[in-house]
Amino acid sequence: MPVQYPAIRYNPSMLSEFDLISRYFTRTARSNIEHIALGVGDDCALLTPTAGMQLAISTDMLVEGRHFFPDADAFSLGHKCLAVNLSDLAAMGARPLAFTLALALPAARDEWLAPFSSGLLALADTHHCELIGGDTTKGPLNICITVFGETLPGQALRRDAAQAGDDIWVSGTLGDARLALAVYRQELCDQLNPDLQPGSENFLLAAARMHQPSPRVALGLALRGIAHAAIDISDGLIGDLGHILKRSGVGATLAVDSLPAGAILNQQQQTIRRHFTLAGGDDYELCFTATASQRDAVLAAAQASATAVTRIGTIDAAPGLRLQDASLAPLNLQLSSFDHFQTT
Ligand code: ADP
Ligand code: MG
Repeated sequence: MPVQYPAIRYNPSMLSEFDLISRYFTRTARSNIEHIALGVGDDCALLTPTAGMQLAISTDMLVEGRHFFPDADAFSLGHKCLAVNLSDLAAMGARPLAFTLALALPAARDEWLAPFSSGLLALADTHHCELIGGDTTKGPLNICITVFGETLPGQALRRDAAQAGDDIWVSGTLGDARLALAVYRQELCDQLNPDLQPGSENFLLAAARMHQPSPRVALGLALRGIAHAAIDISDGLIGDLGHILKRSGVGATLAVDSLPAGAILNQQQQTIRRHFTLAGGDDYELCFTATASQRDAVLAAAQASATAVTRIGTIDAAPGLRLQDASLAPLNLQLSSFDHFQTT
């Protein structure tokens, strides 16, 4: 006997999955047109890589309650979920081409979708990275992006390429995002400067680093052929530098008091400054190594990409990470980087 399916009910007042995709996530490609043979709307997107180039692919997921607060601003969230993915391409020295967006949403609300897609697509335009597809489903808010970029074979900035004697560099400044998180969590209340109250100008400046990170794509591209190893700092400098050390089979010495602290963190006491520059998180700066003979080339790459860089230490043949203060005396700090499964 044939199965009787119920008649399809259609509620025109509610945004359907396909309305939502076409209204907020479907656009004619504005850049990389030669690479995007087919975008949103079919079973797959089709990408045509430049002949002879390697595709660089990375995925990062943002989960409500884990990576962002339940009341997070939708525009900033749109920016941040793409920024953290572009930061991985930057750390590889790859040029962004396109990305896909897998989105679980509790409800299809224009008030959330409009600012979310504006924040997302504004950053996409800045970096000429086209949205070519994705998936949309109902569920707890969860945003997963996969980015596709291109790199010349042999020129990707890998984690396993640091060499003993290399300088260690970092871009921009560290720790302001972690400082903002401390204020949100009401941590260290008696140790932070009183002008860091929620809503104060200083707090908002630090919070902007947390909510709207700037992926260092131009610097990553400029460092190709100059830097040996690179990584982007998402879980704190010592943890992420630790990945380079492990993969490269080397150690390092870091000059802790020459780490570039964020403008607001710089106004805090030394213990907090040291802690948040070394083991903050959410910095999305690049940490990279290059031979000392490339110092001028590194500075020229920084200037060409309008990104500040600071030399913060040296790669050693001996394994392990050694921390030094301004007088080169050893520092013994108890620090750990972020780990999702060892943190509640
Ligand atoms: P499928 O049934 O193959 O999973 P969907 O019906 O989920 O396809 O999606 C229809 C089209 O819309 C596909 O081209 C898909 O890539 C695209 N798409 C779905 N969700 C999104 C999104 N959030 N952003 C961009 N494109 C999307
Ligand atoms: Mg689908």
